[in-house]
Amino acid sequence: MTDGPLEWLALARGTLDRVALNRTDDAWLDAAWNDPKTRVLVIQDGRSLVTYEPSPALVLVPPDQAPHGERWLLGADGDGTVYFGVAGPPPAIEGTEPAGLRRVGALLGDRDSGLLTHAVALEHWHDTNRYCPRCGTETRVASAGHVRVCPKDGSQHFPRVDPAVIMLVTDEADRVLLARGPQWPADRRSILAGFVEPGESLEQAVAREVKEEVGLPVRDVRYLGSQPWPLPQSLMLGFTARADGGVPLNPDPEEILDAAWYSRDELRAALDAGEIVAPGPLSIAAQIIMRWYGGELPNMPDF
Ligand SMILES: [Zn+2]
Repeated sequence: MTDGPLEWLALARGTLDRVALNRTDDAWLDAAWNDPKTRVLVIQDGRSLVTYEPSPALVLVPPDQAPHGERWLLGADGDGTVYFGVAGPPPAIEGTEPAGLRRVGALLGDRDSGLLTHAVALEHWHDTNRYCPRCGTETRVASAGHVRVCPKDGSQHFPRVDPAVIMLVTDEADRVLLARGPQWPADRRSILAGFVEPGESLEQAVAREVKEEVGLPVRDVRYLGSQPWPLPQSLMLGFTARADGGVPLNPDPEEILDAAWYSRDELRAALDAGEIVAPGPLSIAAQIIMRWYGGELPNMPDF
């Protein structure tokens, strides 16, 4: 097992400066929107226009080709090009099709993967947070799409992110614990994961989830890395932890249908034979398992 950080995370590759200080500068925002060099990502139901030729890329449009809709400042690049997201129906452009993060998040280049990840997260948050949680009044968009404000009581509401831990548990023989969740295809196996609860540290969440899901006490919880997972609004925080492989596994049937230890040879054999399927490269799970395994996994899904 390598000791380094996670080398590549599909949805943590954004390259733009988010220019957060410009979000409240209306003159700057107007000038940027009226600059024909500005590019707009149009998003609807989590999908944006993509082309696959010559390689997978977002199809961004100038502001005058964008639909009318909520407008969010996504960032600026080193050449001074400003990028906005707009919610609405995408224009018809030959050779393009709408695609979402699951389909193209791992295939897009760094800038585009970051743009789509940011826009998908904002679209979902705006769609599901239209009303003030204090008084129920419809809120208004502010700060170029990064705040909603209640016109009645003035309260500000910021985009929500739900932290979730995901952990690679190994035993003294450096075997890895893989499990199947209840909603997954019969052959899918991955590492354990769960949401962080209120009043809980990340390390406590790792220990609690492993205990709840398979009955194992863990120790030596170490942070590895993170990636946004706006499907719909999580931040996945990756960890390693150690457990005693001699303790009988006791899966909670509500959360885990199958759990077992795998050595590297056993995992390779099971993947080669098609008995189990690894998570796709989009997920932090796949990157954490590959870090332990020491390279690409056999028969990995394309995305
Ligand atoms: Zn209110």
